[in-house]
Amino acid sequence: MPSVPHTFDTVPQVWPHRHLLDLERLTPGEIRLLLDAAAQLKEATAGCRRKLTILSGRTIVNLFFENSTRTRTSFSLAARRLGADVVEFSASGSSLSKGESFIDTAKNLEAMGIDVVVVRHSTPGTPHLLAQHLDVGVINAGDGAHEHPTQGLLDIFSIRERLGDISGATVGLVGDIAHSRTARSNVWGLLKLGAKVIVCGPPTLVSKRWEELGVEVSHNLDEIVPRCDVLNLLRIQFERQNTRPFPSVREYAHLYAMTGERLKRARKDLLSRAPGPINRGVEVSDDVADCPQSLILDQVTNGLAVRMATLWLTCGNRLPETDQTGPAQPGLPAEKTL
Ligand code: ASP
Repeated sequence: MPSVPHTFDTVPQVWPHRHLLDLERLTPGEIRLLLDAAAQLKEATAGCRRKLTILSGRTIVNLFFENSTRTRTSFSLAARRLGADVVEFSASGSSLSKGESFIDTAKNLEAMGIDVVVVRHSTPGTPHLLAQHLDVGVINAGDGAHEHPTQGLLDIFSIRERLGDISGATVGLVGDIAHSRTARSNVWGLLKLGAKVIVCGPPTLVSKRWEELGVEVSHNLDEIVPRCDVLNLLRIQFERQNTRPFPSVREYAHLYAMTGERLKRARKDLLSRAPGPINRGVEVSDDVADCPQSLILDQVTNGLAVRMATLWLTCGNRLPETDQTGPAQPGLPAEKTL
């Protein structure tokens, strides 16, 4: 995989995909290309603040069927920073409420001459379905508990920025691994780039079957903290759970919240991060969320860089794609189905 050329015009020539649907099916070289493109765009836009015109004349539609603060705003800003027009689609005020099907709605948007759809939906595989039916680029902004590829990429980008290299780093993902799309995208991306991954949480939220992928499974945060270079503290996804996976939030926090006390037993340069929204006092205490090693806000800035890169690459490639549009094969589906 060639590295990113220096002129922004030529990058799409080396990117082989039309969509970004998951990290599971990207090669290590493709992931690196995306990260390199994000780094270049971050620099070219003076830390994601300055505007470029490389996507002028292009139109991006944000099609969000689940709540979002960071991802939606970040895709909108990223598109604007590159000179594209952005349409914010709101399901509640649309003809979906008059009975129009999801695909018909999307096809109508396509007929208005858009270039890329950024979609978030509670049903795993929705972006894959859209990619089969539309002749535009599709970016997965989170499909149920399946994947959230740009979140995975921005997490990895933030680690790479601080550590220089992902390969050989030990990364602990702590929390509701069963229902977290962020966990899935992190696992795929980190493993492909050579990191050691530990998933940690109560047995009801962390299945032994993760070991099949070469991931270490732990139910003891205190034991893994001293071994980790990075901890990614994942939110308990109450909205995706059918049953209560632990007796009380207080007990969960006692065993699995990253606190100042636990930080004392960590490596001095441990990086802690959380995809947001964070629940202070549940997965992370205030002193850890706000400490100098916290990447929580760095990640938000880096989210813009990664999304600029994703839009740029997907807008640039108009080739028909055959390898990514099959039915969603999450590889590790929502854990309750494992
Ligand atoms: N914002 C991330 C997501 O949409 C993480 C979370 O909600 O906990 O998956």
